[in-house]
Amino acid sequence: MSIADNLKQYKNEVESGNVKLIAVSKTQSTEAILEAYNAGQLIFGENHVQEMVDKQAQLPADIEWHLIGHLQSNKVKYIAPFVKVIHGVDSIKLLQEINKQAAKNKRIIDCLLQIYIADEDTKFGLGFDEVIELLRSEEYQELKNIRIVGLMGIATNTKNEKQIAIEFRELKVLFDGIKTSFFSEDDFFKEISTGMSADYKIAIEEGSTMVRIGSSIFGKRIIKHFKNLSEN
Ligand SMILES: *Cc1c(COP(=O)(O)O)cnc(C)c1O
Repeated sequence: MSIADNLKQYKNEVESGNVKLIAVSKTQSTEAILEAYNAGQLIFGENHVQEMVDKQAQLPADIEWHLIGHLQSNKVKYIAPFVKVIHGVDSIKLLQEINKQAAKNKRIIDCLLQIYIADEDTKFGLGFDEVIELLRSEEYQELKNIRIVGLMGIATNTKNEKQIAIEFRELKVLFDGIKTSFFSEDDFFKEISTGMSADYKIAIEEGSTMVRIGSSIFGKRIIKHFKNLSEN
């Protein structure tokens, strides 16, 4: 099946349940992204800053760019003029830098706090206690140019669907608690970004509002190396 066919199939399936589809286009060509765009997709996810900046400059201006991977503080400035949502925020330091760069661009940038839910050492994210500590902190209260619109999580890379479901369920419970304690008046705090090609169905059953699907739409990723901006 073509990218356009795949895209339409996932978009229909996901959006019929009121869940947003983030088409993860990392390592894919601008032609491939355009094919998905022409088939009706406006939201794309990238995990490298330089790659997203390059693609944003070449592609239609109404695309919503979501940064889904780990973000280093010193790179925030390159995406601050245009990024729509930053999914992987996992420290107050990073949040402060996003706030600073958003202010410089006279914007408010939407962020998702990444929560550590997997049974693995390699994943980034805040612990359940840490996220509450962050939201209670004075440093956080001072930030006027960011908006926390929800939580993001990556489940363990396993075939054990029960375990994946439990991890997503724990994130949903945390989300509900945080909503009540910190955002009960704020309609914008409503997103749970969970689910990738392998586990999006489970994620949706467990309350996901945004799924991040890459290889199932675009096919296998071609590994390319993008030059670091700071080296230019
Ligand atoms: C690459 C990536 C995805 C998409 O993964 P697929 O398995 O290709 O669907 C989703 N989320 C994050 C954070 C990623 O880095």
